[in-house]
Amino acid sequence: GPDYVRAIAPYQAGKPIAEVAREFGLDEANIVKLASNENPFGVPESSKKAMAQVVADLGRYPDANGFDLKAALAKRYDVPADWITLGNGSNDILEIAAHAFVQKGQAVVYSQYSFAVYALATQGVGARAIVVPAAEYGHDLDAMAAAIDADTRLVFIANPNNPTGTFIPAAQIEAFLNQVPETVIVVLDEAYNEFLAPEHQFESAQWVRKYPNLVVSRTFSKAYGLAGLRVGFAIAQPAVTDLMNRIRQPFNVNSLAQAAAIAALNDTVFLEEGARNNAAGYQQFVEAFDELGLEYVPSFGNFVLVRVGDDDEAGARVNLALLKQGVIVRPVGNYGLPQWLRISIGLPKENAVFLAALKQALG
Ligand code: PMP
Repeated sequence: GPDYVRAIAPYQAGKPIAEVAREFGLDEANIVKLASNENPFGVPESSKKAMAQVVADLGRYPDANGFDLKAALAKRYDVPADWITLGNGSNDILEIAAHAFVQKGQAVVYSQYSFAVYALATQGVGARAIVVPAAEYGHDLDAMAAAIDADTRLVFIANPNNPTGTFIPAAQIEAFLNQVPETVIVVLDEAYNEFLAPEHQFESAQWVRKYPNLVVSRTFSKAYGLAGLRVGFAIAQPAVTDLMNRIRQPFNVNSLAQAAAIAALNDTVFLEEGARNNAAGYQQFVEAFDELGLEYVPSFGNFVLVRVGDDDEAGARVNLALLKQGVIVRPVGNYGLPQWLRISIGLPKENAVFLAALKQALG
C-alpha cells in the first residue's frame, strides 16, 4: 500500500459494552457507556415506526439520491435540495470532502485537539496536514487563517469541538471565512449543533449563500439518536455539492436510515427532551468536578473533558479503574491529552454511576 496509508494510526472508537463485559467479567446490564457522545435516550420512537414501514422493501436498493430526506432537509434549512449531500454518518461527509477537493501533495488545515477523523481524511488522500496549535483547548482561527499556504485546499473546523467541547461564536467564524481564499474549501463540522443553547445558535446553513467555499456538516448521530444507522449531511452551493456527489458512493445511506432520519428531523419533542437532559447532566458533572477539585473544559456539546491527574499516565490509569467498575468513558491520549478523559453526558442515573466510580477511582 501507499506510504501515506501505512502511516495512518487507526481510529480508536469507544469500547463496545459486550467487549468490556467479556474482558472484565461483568454483566452487560450493569455497564454504563459514556464514551461515544451517543444519545442516552436511544432511537426516537418516531424513527422506529418509520423504519418498520420500510422493512418490507429492503430487498430493493435505497433511493440513491435520497429524494425524501433531502426534501425534508431542504425545507428545514431553507436551501434548495441540490445543495445537500448525504453521508454515511458525517464521517463520510468529511472523507468525501477530502476526496473531492484535495489531491496527494496538497495540504489540509485543522486544529490541535480537534476531531480525529480530520487527520484520517487528510492522510487517506496523501495530503499534508497543517495542524495549528490550539488556544485554550479550542480553535485559534487567526492562526489557522495564517497557516493556510499555497498548497492548502481544505480547512476543517469543529464547532462545538470534539473532544474539548469548545465553541466559536458566529462573528469569529464569519471573520475567518472573510479571510480565506475562495479556492480553499472550509468544512464547518457542526455535529453537536443541536446541543447549543438558543443564544449560541446561528444560521450557518444560510451562510453557504454568501460563501461559495463553505460546507456545513451535520449528523443524525448525536441529538437525533441515530448513531448506529449512520446518517449525516452537508449543505453547500451546487458547484461544491456536485463534486461531492460525484465521488460519494451511490447508495451510501441505506433505506432504514433515510426513513428514520426524516422522522427524527420532525420529532421536536425528542430533540427538546434531549437538550434539557443534556443541560441538566452538564450541571451534574461540573458541580461534581468542582467538588472534587478537577479541572474541566467548559463544554457546549454532550460531553465534558476533565483532567483526572497531573501525570501522563493519569488518563489511562483512571480509565482502567473505571472499566473495572463497568463504566466506559473515552481516554484521549491519542489526541495528545493523556491527563484527561472525555465523558459523554448520559441519563441522570448513568451520570451518578460514573461520578461514584470516578470518586472510587481517584481514591
Ligand atoms: N464530527 C465530530 C466533531 C464528531 O465528534 C463526530 C462523532 N464522533 C463526527 C463528526 C462523526 O459522527 P458521525 O459519523 O456519526 O456523523
